[in-house]
Amino acid sequence: MSDALLAVEGLTTAFETRAGTLTAVNGVSFDICRGETLGLVGESGSGKSVTAFSIIRLVQPPGRVMAGRVVFQGRDLLSLPEDEMRQVRGAGIGFVFQEPMSALNPVMRVGEHIVEALRVHGLATRTEARARAIDLLRAARIGDAERRVDDYPHQLSGGMRQRVMIAIALACRPPLVIADEPTTALDVTVQAQILELLRDMKREFGISLLLITHDLGVVAETADRVAIMYAGRIVEQAPVRDIFRRPAHPYTRGLLASIPGGAAGSRLHAIEGTVPNLASLPPGCSFAPRCSERMPACSAAFPEATTLAPGHSVRCYLHPTPDSRLPIPDGAGT
Ligand code: ADP
Ligand code: MG
Repeated sequence: MSDALLAVEGLTTAFETRAGTLTAVNGVSFDICRGETLGLVGESGSGKSVTAFSIIRLVQPPGRVMAGRVVFQGRDLLSLPEDEMRQVRGAGIGFVFQEPMSALNPVMRVGEHIVEALRVHGLATRTEARARAIDLLRAARIGDAERRVDDYPHQLSGGMRQRVMIAIALACRPPLVIADEPTTALDVTVQAQILELLRDMKREFGISLLLITHDLGVVAETADRVAIMYAGRIVEQAPVRDIFRRPAHPYTRGLLASIPGGAAGSRLHAIEGTVPNLASLPPGCSFAPRCSERMPACSAAFPEATTLAPGHSVRCYLHPTPDSRLPIPDGAGT
């Protein structure tokens, strides 16, 4: 797509462990267009954070990006010199993490974090930066910003800290923000406020957003499109409406069923079983061992993507590709 701000193509990241090579991200591809929010959704351990860290090249050893391209504003980040990459982090791509406390320096005042971010990228002098920091805190709907700017992180509530993180992420006006489980550590009311803030920021600052979450409910009102990740692969991708109205992958349907208060009167039921050990994945579809609609074909090879509608693709033998329909393996049914 020519309009893509970020195009991730065949991204593969693995960890060398004693148990063998663990492929945490396995041929992941997606685009994010300007002004668009893509929700990346999957259970804990599905490879969402490793995807995010791979994009900004902060995967720590023994992890390594093995293959793929990450084209951001026309340049492949994976082949950029480290000093240019440092410019991209912050000025090109801002981040918001799950645990603001671990991203904030406890001995630095709130304002100093923003001033630091601006100065690293040469965007403001010290005095300008302070005024800009106050503006950004205000933009993040932090009341009494003139006073809060001199607070230390521990003086703030969890929700306030996340607002500060969002202000820092936006300081250099990056065109893309990656928010990795930004509301997971917060209680429900604060979660809703932070999501609303992200939506407002997207509109006001014109940013694109990669919103990572284990909770499909979080993306319902915030994302334009959704990519569902399971055991390192994207198994379904669709406009948010289609994900909720016409979920095609049994895993996506399972995630939908586990949204609290999802279907009226339905009890919360999580998908049975757990994400498989990524160092010893079963042959075929990784979800097959947990899938209630498993067929013999599922254990042979990982299904290719089928396009169901514009922008809606799925990797599941319930939706065979035109090619894979012809030779029916023994006992695979019709
Ligand atoms: P998510 O963010 O979806 O919860 P992660 O991307 O953090 O999942 O992790 C995906 C998988 O990558 C984990 O299940 C784990 O097996 C593996 N992994 C992540 N970090 C490391 C590491 N430092 N060493 C070995 N394996 C790792
Ligand atoms: Mg994570």
